[in-house]
Amino acid sequence: MGHDVVVVGSVNADLVLQVDRHPRPGETLLGRDAVTLPGGKGANQAVAAARLGASVALVGAVGTDPDAAVALSLLTSAGVDLTHVATVDWPTGLAVVTLADDGENTIVVVPGANAAVTPAAVDAAHDVVAGGRVCVLQAEIPLDAVGRAAHVAHRAGARVLLNVAPATTLPDDVVRLADPLVVNEHEAALLLGRPITAGAEGARDAAAELAARGPGSVVVTLGTSGVVGHEAGASWSWPAVRVDAVDTTGAGDAFVGALAARLAAGDALRDAAAFATRVAAASVTRLGAQPSYPWATNPLP
Ligand code: ATP
Repeated sequence: MGHDVVVVGSVNADLVLQVDRHPRPGETLLGRDAVTLPGGKGANQAVAAARLGASVALVGAVGTDPDAAVALSLLTSAGVDLTHVATVDWPTGLAVVTLADDGENTIVVVPGANAAVTPAAVDAAHDVVAGGRVCVLQAEIPLDAVGRAAHVAHRAGARVLLNVAPATTLPDDVVRLADPLVVNEHEAALLLGRPITAGAEGARDAAAELAARGPGSVVVTLGTSGVVGHEAGASWSWPAVRVDAVDTTGAGDAFVGALAARLAAGDALRDAAAFATRVAAASVTRLGAQPSYPWATNPLP
């Protein structure tokens, strides 16, 4: 039987360094703490969906190094099917995150094994990609593999949730397969080639303009301002849930994973997005990305 959600995407280890302030070019600083956590947008979204009760498979790749065990740890405990996560002779993807006291962070991502998620790797996982209800894609693996997965899933009748993160441009033939296309404000601006006017009106315009490129629907996430959506010629917005934020890392991935889980369960896009804002809000009340994601049994804000 097919999975509710099939994620084709990145798996990383996040090396999180805590510093008083960011180093200037050429400067060496002493950090306070270093911890390695599981991360990667693909893995984060898979964990978020699986913890909510969806059956989830991940298509990806890790290395043979010790980081692989960390990267896969919470996917395993969430019950994600890792049959199609290859082990390759490159280091596991690594994100070095520098967290400064002012709350600003810098991130350098080295894709490593994620570069092995090629169109051929998608073809090798054809049946699982074609067999899912919702195929979830981001842009931390080679973009030709994103395109291949979108085409395989769409041809098989699966719904393609395309999260164009980090910000990049994708060919129109891929964007058209998305239903929904999910972006934050920065990603929307890059796709449109213009800044997004502040406020709900500006975000609605951006969503409508993105929808004109052919995806079945569009969702633009706006952090504490919530989300706007555009579907079948009409737009809607939904507010964020007010919570005391502790750490917003991975809020976007919590949103996408929850959205996918609810779409697979048959929710309308707007209802799924409303639920996903509650899951994302829960995630910002706890530290980290994956460790902060709620389970189906947790009460939501
Ligand atoms: P990130 O890169 O931090 O994972 P993102 O930029 O992809 O996030 P955002 O638009 O910041 O995505 O957040 C996604 C959704 O999460 C928002 O639409 C909102 O519903 C929720 N969210 C984000 N930050 C907060 C917050 N501080 N309080 C409540 N909800 C939040």
